[in-house]
Amino acid sequence: MLTSLRRIVLEFSQAPELESALLRMVGQIKKAMKTDCCSVHIADYTNQHFLLMASDGLSIDSLGQTSVAFTEGLIGLVGQREEPINIANPQEHPHYIHAPEVQEDEFNAFLGTPIIHQRKVLGIISIQQKNARHFTEDEEAFLVTLSAQLATSLANAEARGKLGLAKEEQWLKQLSGIAGAPGIAFGNILVCSQSANLASISLQKTEDIAHQLTRFELSVDKTRADFSNMAKKLSQLISDDSVDVFEVYQQLLNHANLGQEVSESIKNGWQAESALKIVIDNYVMQFEALDDAYIRERASDIRDLGNRLLLNLQQQGTKSNVLPKEFILMADDVTASVLAEYQHQGLKGILSLSGSNNSHAAILARALDIPAIMGIGKIPLSQLDQEQVIIDGYSGELFIAPNDALIREYKHLIIEETLLADKVKKVEKLPSVTKDGRTIELLLNAGLSTGFEHSKHAGAVGIGLYRTEIPFMNRSCFPSEQEQTKLYRQVLSAFPKQAVTMRTLDVGGDKSLPYFPIVEDNPFLGWRGIRITLDHPEIFLLQIRAMIKANLSHNNLEIMLPMISSVSEVDDATRLINQAFYELKAELQAKNKRSEPLTGSEKILKPKIGIMIEVPSTIFQLKELASRVDFFSVGSNDLTQYLLAVDRNNARVANLYDAYHPAVLRALNTIAEESSKYLVPLSLCGELAGEPAGALLLLAMGYDKLSMNPHNVGRIKWVIRHVDFQRTKVLLAHVLTFSTAKQVHCYLNEQLEQLGLGGFVRAGM
Ligand code: PEP
Ligand code: MG
Repeated sequence: MLTSLRRIVLEFSQAPELESALLRMVGQIKKAMKTDCCSVHIADYTNQHFLLMASDGLSIDSLGQTSVAFTEGLIGLVGQREEPINIANPQEHPHYIHAPEVQEDEFNAFLGTPIIHQRKVLGIISIQQKNARHFTEDEEAFLVTLSAQLATSLANAEARGKLGLAKEEQWLKQLSGIAGAPGIAFGNILVCSQSANLASISLQKTEDIAHQLTRFELSVDKTRADFSNMAKKLSQLISDDSVDVFEVYQQLLNHANLGQEVSESIKNGWQAESALKIVIDNYVMQFEALDDAYIRERASDIRDLGNRLLLNLQQQGTKSNVLPKEFILMADDVTASVLAEYQHQGLKGILSLSGSNNSHAAILARALDIPAIMGIGKIPLSQLDQEQVIIDGYSGELFIAPNDALIREYKHLIIEETLLADKVKKVEKLPSVTKDGRTIELLLNAGLSTGFEHSKHAGAVGIGLYRTEIPFMNRSCFPSEQEQTKLYRQVLSAFPKQAVTMRTLDVGGDKSLPYFPIVEDNPFLGWRGIRITLDHPEIFLLQIRAMIKANLSHNNLEIMLPMISSVSEVDDATRLINQAFYELKAELQAKNKRSEPLTGSEKILKPKIGIMIEVPSTIFQLKELASRVDFFSVGSNDLTQYLLAVDRNNARVANLYDAYHPAVLRALNTIAEESSKYLVPLSLCGELAGEPAGALLLLAMGYDKLSMNPHNVGRIKWVIRHVDFQRTKVLLAHVLTFSTAKQVHCYLNEQLEQLGLGGFVRAGM
């Protein structure tokens, strides 16, 4: 049963065209379940009905013609209840509707299950039988499992359908994702393929057979060369049989085997990538169904070979070093390092199929002021390459091949955005003070990309968070003490008279170093931030030494420790910082004795040490922590993720990730109250600080400083200068009484509009 289930799901997900795939699938289900009829109804939300799309058992003439309203019949009941309905003698059921055109009178048993994707009913699969009986629990479980597995494929097929229409009809088409970075962008998509995965390919036909054959042959030649090189390199290191695997791959590539089959498939009209997928999936399926464990294992070899061939197919003709003058970057997973690689003045927008609005890539996009949409979902990337699009980074909407009217409308919104930006610019140099005289310091978040952010102060009075990990990322090994010192000196000198808070290395989670890979099932709950650096004092000490050395001439450094979850971590880190400090001091004194005196400004001073409050455990130990450190800075991005147990990177749960969740807001308020009680200076450097509503709430809570990306400093300053502190207190008092995030959002949006600040959170003034 399991094998048939997998086969049915696999074949459905591979099919290029929905209608024929559904028809084939109902036949397969009917056969596998030994029943008399299987049908699929698809939900049509515009017309509020389920349309009978495929059936093996009902009248062929009714396919695509007969529909049943969402509130009617047994099919409607399955959809409404969102659970299976399993009944004998369905005609006697009060919801049964007699529909002579479908010819179902002879069936006396009915089992229907909903196909649900992300809480939305996409359709209903039903089976019927002549015998009057209840279907067994096993049969019900089979159909439920099948529906659950088909849901994603069906949702993807819908998205593909949208794309197809967009291309063929040159019509307005729209996809939605998660609003990653605000703003509007126009341009043509540049697809960046990071690694090839046959599973993400959706099948496409083509008429261009000769060209596809040539592409495939080139990919085979390149793959052969890759394998020879790999085998040669490996045989210099090891001398066992592992190297033979490349010989096996080479043989598989021979025309008599797999290569021949792919060529045949191309000749049948499939695009090269599609042909490769069909052949490889078929082999994998056959191998995996066999009893012999050794042969089953070979399925992964075949998949590996397939993905390598695919990579070489996809990379043909791409010249990653020559970027177009202007482009919208699109990839399966736009990460911070992909962004670092594609940082270029022509980069106008960012589209990522995965990720969420607090992924580091989204944070970086906001820092760069580049509109971004994250978590668009599985759609065939290759189909969108070069496509003209509009990105609405406020709402997360993507318009493909937009029509003239839409282009006109968005151009108008861009003009309004520019007007607002001009107004904001005017307050850039003014103090950040409310109408009734309350001051809050605005600082910069810097470091997510190399070099450009602190070049413009944007009206900030210091750096509240300098993320040190990016300079560690774009390299092939850890940077030396000297290299780090040079870089940190540049950062400290950007604000010579104001505090610069440098955070020690916070890798792990969604930030990895190419030369220090960490593979974990739960990276955000694993080896991350201070946990890594305390386990590797040699890395930590080197970084601290570099920071202190860089600080010799400016004395404006503050050191901040990320991912603190217990008091002992603070003690251990402080001990190491002290060690680095006293060693350096001794070294400098020795240098001094050798009559190499320090210059007047070169004085070694111990920097202030603070911690990030981003792991919930710290909220319950603020008193102990307060006695150990000089300041707290709340990392609301991680605090939200850990408090709500929602991966900040996972598009599937993005709707649950919300810094305005009452629990998060109450936690932030408690932190402010406690910090004030223990007299510890408090700032917040998560994304919430750069959001108008967030900044108003934090101001009311009593935060001393807010740290944000340069693009937001002016906007938040404008917001602060146009409110009364007393009004924000009222706002906060109201918000703290709400029990759901939805209530909080509705209230805050309404208040922002009333305050005339709506233009900061949506397109248009
Ligand atoms: C945070 O967690 O809020 C934070 C500022 O750090 P990062 O986003 O780099 O994890
Ligand atoms: Mg963090």
